[in-house]
Amino acid sequence: MTFKAMVVEKDEDGKTSASIQDLDDSRLPDGDVTVAVEYSTVNYKDGLCLGPGGGLVRTYPHVPGIDFAGTVEASDDARYKPGDKVVLTGWRVGEAWWGGYAQKARVKADWLVPLPDGLSARDAMAVGTAGFTAMLAVMALEDHGLKPGDGPVLVTGAAGGVGSVATAILSNLGYEVAGVTGRPETAEYLKSLGASQIVAREDINETVKRPLETETWAGCVDAVGGAMLARVLGQMKYGASVSAVGLAGGAGLPATVIPFLLRGVNLLGIDSVMRPYEDRLRAWERLAKDLPLDKLHAMVQPATLADLPELGASILKGGVQGRVVVDVN
Ligand code: NDP
Repeated sequence: MTFKAMVVEKDEDGKTSASIQDLDDSRLPDGDVTVAVEYSTVNYKDGLCLGPGGGLVRTYPHVPGIDFAGTVEASDDARYKPGDKVVLTGWRVGEAWWGGYAQKARVKADWLVPLPDGLSARDAMAVGTAGFTAMLAVMALEDHGLKPGDGPVLVTGAAGGVGSVATAILSNLGYEVAGVTGRPETAEYLKSLGASQIVAREDINETVKRPLETETWAGCVDAVGGAMLARVLGQMKYGASVSAVGLAGGAGLPATVIPFLLRGVNLLGIDSVMRPYEDRLRAWERLAKDLPLDKLHAMVQPATLADLPELGASILKGGVQGRVVVDVN
């Protein structure tokens, strides 16, 4: 029996190409749990791994896909048995290891979490790493004291995956949400997710000129980094926190330390990849409770394995709105 997978190969000149191939089980990597994959998704990192790799992929041929959800087919680990529904995000699956852009995956049991009650496999992939990380970012802000009523919470890269999910969660929890977008045409979409204010990217995308500006934001989920993050730090209210999630606008941070010293602003680093199991369970439980399914479904663009090369190129250019769900079958 063969199964279909999106395989990226590298030629002698170092050029990569992606194609759908029929593989058999002997090609699967080592691992204790074999999963019949139902859905995967497209994150920013998937865009890199579908193309030249961005330094993330170790060996070729490679099957990308940093997330998947499906049903256990075989297991050598007591925690999982055939028929169990499972989700995987992170652990460098789809980068250093073969990932979810296939009808079958084999991974370490430690990397899996049970599909949370209340979410289907498709819903879990509508969330994916982007949404899981958005939840971790909101939880970090809460852990640092953010409460509804404190004032507007800024979400940068709002129309992207992390931003869309963060906007929907924050709004559902009763926060006033301001979304930064470079795509004015997404304003109605962002309002439908719960944003009450739209901030134009160009209004907030310059390098810091004054280290402190008017205290405006009670919290921030930042998917953009770079000059935007530097600017946002100087606009935070006294004692407020920014969850630093992404680098869609750049990995640099052309900032001053003044907001930290004079306003007690906190910059919270958010990693989703190596998160311990208990944190993962807590975040998935919160997603099942605090992310309204109607809003999640409204973010979804359906896709198949064949759409992946184009979607991968598009997400790297900031061209994907919301979340892509890939039906691998
Ligand atoms: P998306 O491409 O879906 O979203 C990124 C959004 O950022 C875009 O939609 C766009 O939003 C905005 N954007 C893109 N380019 C620029 C730019 N040059 N300047 C300013 N804004 C820009 O990606 P994801 O939401 O999946 O990921 C967002 C970031 O978070 C990525 O850098 C990703 O690597 C990172 N990430 C980190 C994780 C972690 O564990 N820390 C986990 C998941 C993601 P708009 O059009 O609204 O302006």
